[in-house]
Amino acid sequence: MQSSYKKEYMDLAFDLSRKSPKVKEAFSVGAVIVNASNQIVATAYSRETGEYDHAEEIALLKAKRAKVNLNNCILYCTLEPCAVRKSKDKSCSEHIIESGISTIFVGAREPNLFVKQYGIEKLRESVVSVVIVEGYQALFEEVNAELLKI
Ligand SMILES: [Zn+2]
Repeated sequence: MQSSYKKEYMDLAFDLSRKSPKVKEAFSVGAVIVNASNQIVATAYSRETGEYDHAEEIALLKAKRAKVNLNNCILYCTLEPCAVRKSKDKSCSEHIIESGISTIFVGAREPNLFVKQYGIEKLRESVVSVVIVEGYQALFEEVNAELLKI
């Protein structure tokens, strides 16, 4: 059984993203992992556990530590998971592909500010279903307004 999109989880991911310690070199992102019974199994936000930690990888690590089987879980993230990453060897897209998560709901595409991302394409190539949810790009830009202002 695969649960379907629930707005409350994307809204929660955005609430979480606002908790991210602000930095000049990276966006503030939130992530929520929900299981097939529509229960939250992990939440995270950027830099929650360390200076270079991404929300998606933190959430996946929390789920892994809790021994959650991620195969039927859904990941909600406010920004497309990274495929290119300067701070660490492994990108969030790679972590997601390895985790077995098969469905992701994404709030926003990454603005071309730091690197040109292709996380959505990379995930889709690996048969992960990626849905870009309409109506959240502006909220993402609001949360990250300090980075995006010219
Ligand atoms: Zn990442």
